[in-house]
Amino acid sequence: MGRIRILSDQVANQIAAGEVVDRPASVVKELLENSLDAGAMRIRIEVEAGGRKLIRVADDGYGMNRDDALLAFERHATSKLRTTDELLSIATLGFRGEALPSIASVARVTLETAAGEEAAGTRVEIAGGKIHRVEDTALPRGTTISVSDLFFNTPARRKFLRAESTELAHVTALVTHYALAHPEKQFDLISASHTILSATPVARTAERIFQVFGKETLGQLLPVAAEAPLDRAGLPEPPPWKKDPDQLPRQPGTLRLTGFYSKPELQKLNRNSIYIFVNKRLIRDRLLLHAITEAYRNVIPPTSFPVVLLFLEMPPEEVDVNVHPAKTEVRFRQQTLVHDFVRDSLRTALIKARPAAGFLAALDSQPSASPSLMPPAASPLPGPPRTGLSPWGGVPGAPDRDSILPASSIVLPPDSDPAAFADAETFHLTPRVPSPIPGTLPFDGRSVPDPRSLDPQVWRDAADAFLVPGAATAAGECSATINGSTPYAGDTAAAAALVEAEQAAASLNRLGSLRPLGQLRESFILAAGDDGLWIIDQHVAHERVLFEKILRDRQVERVQRQRLLMPLLVELKPEQMVVFAPIAQELEANGFEVEPFGPQTLAVKAAPVGLEGAELERTLAEVIDQSAADSDEPSRNEGLNRLRTRIAASIACHSAIKVNTLLDSKRIEWLLLELAKTSHPTSCPHGRPIALLYSWKEILRAFHRI
Ligand code: ADP
Ligand code: MG
Repeated sequence: MGRIRILSDQVANQIAAGEVVDRPASVVKELLENSLDAGAMRIRIEVEAGGRKLIRVADDGYGMNRDDALLAFERHATSKLRTTDELLSIATLGFRGEALPSIASVARVTLETAAGEEAAGTRVEIAGGKIHRVEDTALPRGTTISVSDLFFNTPARRKFLRAESTELAHVTALVTHYALAHPEKQFDLISASHTILSATPVARTAERIFQVFGKETLGQLLPVAAEAPLDRAGLPEPPPWKKDPDQLPRQPGTLRLTGFYSKPELQKLNRNSIYIFVNKRLIRDRLLLHAITEAYRNVIPPTSFPVVLLFLEMPPEEVDVNVHPAKTEVRFRQQTLVHDFVRDSLRTALIKARPAAGFLAALDSQPSASPSLMPPAASPLPGPPRTGLSPWGGVPGAPDRDSILPASSIVLPPDSDPAAFADAETFHLTPRVPSPIPGTLPFDGRSVPDPRSLDPQVWRDAADAFLVPGAATAAGECSATINGSTPYAGDTAAAAALVEAEQAAASLNRLGSLRPLGQLRESFILAAGDDGLWIIDQHVAHERVLFEKILRDRQVERVQRQRLLMPLLVELKPEQMVVFAPIAQELEANGFEVEPFGPQTLAVKAAPVGLEGAELERTLAEVIDQSAADSDEPSRNEGLNRLRTRIAASIACHSAIKVNTLLDSKRIEWLLLELAKTSHPTSCPHGRPIALLYSWKEILRAFHRI
């Protein structure tokens, strides 16, 4: 007898479950996607014990009749796909027909569903893959799926589950982000009869962000929208015998991008605050992450990441969604085009908006980490449960269970899930004694009992920590002013519009028309504008001006160099000599004339204009050391690009006007005008802010005039 056996359906389903369902959040993801696919307008998610005990997703979608209700649990049973051709143009979130049988193989599942308006429905009970009961029952149209005792029959998997609060945080993050992608739908997330998120339908994403994250976060984000025709160039044409002569050439369609991106002052230590949706599907994608990082290069420090919410829309045939069992990865047919489109759209938006950093935001703009929104692809590491602060525990005066909290108030404890926190070392939720401010913004005026009944400060801090670095501390300082400015709480549309108007006002586009008032300690320029008082760091401002000029000059190969009266001898360590050789040519193109002078010495005969003496020596050493540190460039071209910006940044830094330098009014005016002409007057090439605006509104508030 041979050794090979066909696996039973039950075993096959459990194996598939290993890929599709690895924690409560992935069950929620599958159920939520099914509800969205069923055209639901209201989706209610209930969890108990972080989803280990119970996950229930109820929707008002088109439901199923009795036959479908039974078929749904068969492996590879789907209503969304018939042929492989359709796989190329899939418009639904699901298509593999794997989720329900996988979930049913590792949990106890009850499905209640009705397809018509008439009150005829079906109830199916299934546990560990076996159907226990099927009955007709009166139900309204829609589907409710309850999943209890997840992994009850796979103890090994159950062991991998983290603390309840961690699992709940993953579930919350997931629901929050689907809620962001579908502002027109109602989402409710309830944990142990406690409403965590309740988002009523709104017209625009900005309003949904306002509902979910609050005014402050929305205020830190700027909208972006771009469109580009999809060019089919470079794609293989079908062979002549496959071409349909009657068929008109298919329109390649359009690539569309909408979303929000953060101002440069908002920085994160990891990529967890970058959310990418492709055709409304939440995905993680290295290519797009790279495009986003590129857009922010030399605007924020290389070790920081922005907050970005990106919705990409393209014809379904342009993107292969069948790359990963959990459908969290995709492959684009025109990778470079999509990458460059995202990078350029974001960069253009940043250049156009030139968002000015506000005073308080800049004060707190230390990069901070955010918890992961999507469970990592790899299984979580096993290990003893670590003690961490639970968002539910340790908070003085536990939150009112009936109150509505912003979804972002769920903050993962720093050490509750080693895998999810691989790069979130500095994330802390520090509960503090609450002060009674009605800070939480109600999503739905009717359902909020009393904002004061929860610990607004604590929850706001948690919410802020989720997206706004350091805003938790700022909140304490400006709470009085915030209190005074929430008359529109409840009217989401008006509030969101107001925030957007404020965002638009605070732009560095006005730099050129500022009236310089003088210098502060011979280091900072003070200037008056219609919108308030500006403080400009003279060193970094000049640095930005020089940086962009050097890059421009290098591009057209017109770098100005100056001959030194005496060659400058620079001694290098042996490892520095090794790094120097491959970058020598680029240094020369940037105005350096350097020759070896003995085994460990370089003779510098000429240098870029403005770079002298010790600064010249420092620049060289800096460029060489940085080049040594980063040798893992993805491509040669990119390596060269980076080297160029590094050299430009270094020269700019070392030849820019220093602090403690007296400037006359002519020079100040010149500097402001030149700065206004740069594409990123917001931050220096290393990511520090250049100009801060103390807005007129802030001034009035501080003097208690509003
Ligand atoms: P897939 O979503 O890949 O088709 P699933 O196993 O998730 O596979 O679901 C199987 C089928 O069950 C779906 O194709 C759909 O027809 C039906 N179904 C599942 N959930 C719902 C729901 N909430 N409303 C209506 N139909 C549903
Ligand atoms: Mg599905």
